[in-house]
Amino acid sequence: MLQRKTRVRFAPSPTGGLHLGGVRTALFNYLFAKRHQGEFILRIEDTDQSRFVPGAEQYILDSLRWCGLEPDESPEQGGPFGPYRQSERKALYRQQAERLVASGHAYYAFDTPEEIEAMREHWRTEEDPSPQYGQRLRMHMRNSLTLPSEEVQALLQSGHPCVIRLRMPADEVVGFEDMVRGHVEFQTAQIDDKVLLKADGMPTYHLAVVVDDYHMHITHAFRGEEWLPSAPVHLLLWKYLGWAEQMPQWAHLPLILKPDGHGKLSKRDGERLGFPVFAMDWRDPASGEVTRGFREMGFLPEAFVNMLALLGWNDGSGQEIFSLGELVATFSLDRVHKGGARFDFEKAKWYNQEWIRRTANQQLLPLADSVFRDHGIDVDPARLAEAIPLVKDRCILLTDFIPQAAFLFRAPLAWDKPSIAAKWNPQRQRFFLDWTEELAAGHGEWTATTLEQSFQAAATAAGIKAGELQLPLRIMLVGGKYGPPVFTIAALIGQRETYARIRRALQELDAGT
Ligand code: GLU
Repeated sequence: MLQRKTRVRFAPSPTGGLHLGGVRTALFNYLFAKRHQGEFILRIEDTDQSRFVPGAEQYILDSLRWCGLEPDESPEQGGPFGPYRQSERKALYRQQAERLVASGHAYYAFDTPEEIEAMREHWRTEEDPSPQYGQRLRMHMRNSLTLPSEEVQALLQSGHPCVIRLRMPADEVVGFEDMVRGHVEFQTAQIDDKVLLKADGMPTYHLAVVVDDYHMHITHAFRGEEWLPSAPVHLLLWKYLGWAEQMPQWAHLPLILKPDGHGKLSKRDGERLGFPVFAMDWRDPASGEVTRGFREMGFLPEAFVNMLALLGWNDGSGQEIFSLGELVATFSLDRVHKGGARFDFEKAKWYNQEWIRRTANQQLLPLADSVFRDHGIDVDPARLAEAIPLVKDRCILLTDFIPQAAFLFRAPLAWDKPSIAAKWNPQRQRFFLDWTEELAAGHGEWTATTLEQSFQAAATAAGIKAGELQLPLRIMLVGGKYGPPVFTIAALIGQRETYARIRRALQELDAGT
């Protein structure tokens, strides 16, 4: 067979925020495509109108963009195999479903939901408590297998609600080679006659995924493990439609598990345990409720992507930090695990801390700037540029720039007074009054070094150990016992501000004693 160009697709349904499991599927698709000089396609699977949520498609595009996973073809930028939204490909699915009816692999079914319910009631047995529409019962239902053909024609013409179902073969074993799991097999006897085309004319996922993967020349299809039970349905469709030769190679990716390892990680777990599961903030258009995302929580996309890649994959060397480019160069499906990958938020934060450290200060600047702006703090960009290298090692999240550096842009709102008061006395107060006078009188060069020298000299003159005065000075400037070296802080905030903050704090201390 001719070597085909690698084409993979990420095929989300626009039903809400993009769960991190979805982003990981997109990432593995992207890595595989780029690794093999192939194409990464975004297809929007919006045929379930009852689950369609406005805004969700844009959110998916924005999330992928934030992660740096730009598709080569998508509803937004188009491409040679469009449209890339399933709702715009309706005619294609009906045509294929009718072809299956004509070849005897599918049939029309006219049963109403009430009739199907009645069938379940009627045929329920102890061994089969919830009978399916399939081999056992299809011949008792109202469909084109049981009704005379004139009646079928009449029903079709009258516009009676009608679906098309796949006729599952009685006793076949169907199997395929999964790129992660190896050989997988299924018994067709266990599977019901899946609906392929719904009464509203929309295809179900089963039909649409096969028709689109074929028409879009997809060579490899990676999706979550939850789709494995559907694989036999799809295998048969590839075969019955006469396209078996072109069927993509499949890989079913391991689930992302709750932190305790019990079950699939859900949005609710995040709410319960206080961590995000969505890439970015998601506002539900119906309720207005906002679900927190990694981006808004202060994650760098590099860290988010790095963390996701290692959920279910590693390169075998123990290396944990990978840029997207390095992942492209190293990723391979044979190192994807079969077992579920447990999500660990502490580990996610560790990746972020590492990435904040590794990210160039210049690149952090606009990000830190917007964190401050979001918190209503106006920052001087030049001073922020100086602050970033001083505090970035202490930041786990981008939002940590607020506690770590806000005092460089605005005076503290409160002081840790007890920590000063413990050793406070008139002599110390005198010292600060005198030193600030000296500062006000003009200090020459205003740098951390000259300030420290002047402080030392003043302390010596007052007969106090400079070391003992540094903590009060820090609290006066910062509000608490944290931050970069204190004279660096004074140098950054400037002469007037240093003076004003010390004087203000002295008044507070006076008032408090
Ligand atoms: N629309 C499916 C989903 O949202 C896609 C599954 C697939 O990739 O085939 O999970």
